Amino acid sequence: MRRMVTRPGSADQARLLLVLRDSGPVSRPELGERLGLSRSKLALEVDRLIELGLVEARGLAASRGGRRSAVLALASGLRFLGVDIGATSVDVAVTDGELRVLDRVAARVDVREGPEAVLEVALELAGKVCADGGHDLHGAGVGVPGPVSFRDGVPVAPPIMPGWDRFPVKSVLEQRLGCPVLVDNDVNIMALGEMHAGVARTVDDFLFVKIGTGVGCGIVVDGQVYRGVSGSAGDIGHIRVDDEGPTCTCGNAGCLEAYFSGAALARQALEAARSGRSDHLADRLSAAGSLTAADVAAAAAAGDRVAVDMVRHGGHRVGLLLAGLVSFANPGAVVIGGAVAIGLGHPLLAEIRSVVYRRSLPLATGNLPIVLSEMGADAGVVGGARLISDALLRTA
Ligand SMILES: [Zn+2]
Repeated sequence: MRRMVTRPGSADQARLLLVLRDSGPVSRPELGERLGLSRSKLALEVDRLIELGLVEARGLAASRGGRRSAVLALASGLRFLGVDIGATSVDVAVTDGELRVLDRVAARVDVREGPEAVLEVALELAGKVCADGGHDLHGAGVGVPGPVSFRDGVPVAPPIMPGWDRFPVKSVLEQRLGCPVLVDNDVNIMALGEMHAGVARTVDDFLFVKIGTGVGCGIVVDGQVYRGVSGSAGDIGHIRVDDEGPTCTCGNAGCLEAYFSGAALARQALEAARSGRSDHLADRLSAAGSLTAADVAAAAAAGDRVAVDMVRHGGHRVGLLLAGLVSFANPGAVVIGGAVAIGLGHPLLAEIRSVVYRRSLPLATGNLPIVLSEMGADAGVVGGARLISDALLRTA
């Protein structure tokens, strides 16, 4: 794992790199057209990028009449690392310059074990995936499950991450990986992943709602993540939905997350199993010794009344909150992701949709797709790679 710090030297070079990243190989004439550059100017910029080792010529394009022209692509050796640290898991992947996942690996962790232990696992996975694939990293993008000061690369007062407050995640990882690192909230990097390769590929303004152990929302405006002044924009899991509600991990009462999230569903499932309200969940509890949101999904799919109601009520709560957000932000799409949401699937989506469409301003929902993510665990790692590539393929 070695650093190679080469950056484009001009704004045109940077634009050229982003086109090649997002579109794949492009012929010289087409590239010139898309960037509005003359042949000579393009040749100059391309030569420089080839010298820097960022771009390479790759065969000849089909003829458009006359001489066949060379196809240009991002250097085939470009490698970005995406690291998605969730509350209970770490996903690590290496991508090429076009952010296609080449190799990936994952492990279970508990983020409450603190930054040293969890980052050690992430570094081990990164070391393994790089050694196995022979990858030299150019940069890494990392997501953590809490608010992050993006500029400093440190978590800030994260509710479910004891010991992580102000821990220098960025500088520790830069030192250990030997390449530039950016750190962001995990929901933000998942939103970036959806924008790069998921259902939000064609949308510049959208909301990405993650429902996992916790709940959060990535806000993409004009193709950029909106992080807010202190990095907590979109932290919708801790919006109070009921003054009388249960106590949340953040210490407040009645947060959305305390009603509906992976952690809340597990707790409610346990109550339902122990109180005898759900035989189905009670059976699963005695078989497995514990219950998770996945058990609720399975019980609901099997028609268990209590589980179906849990999903419906949860979807209703999320929908109520989203209806307000949609009226406020007028997004072009809402993408619902995260392991819990994907596990609950269409029954959850249907409930969210019906509430949002009923409650939001008609003008805001007229053309609004509300869809499930199709990227699974790749959203976070691809988004991490996108985050760092956005920074490195720009002028320094
Ligand atoms: Zn809370």
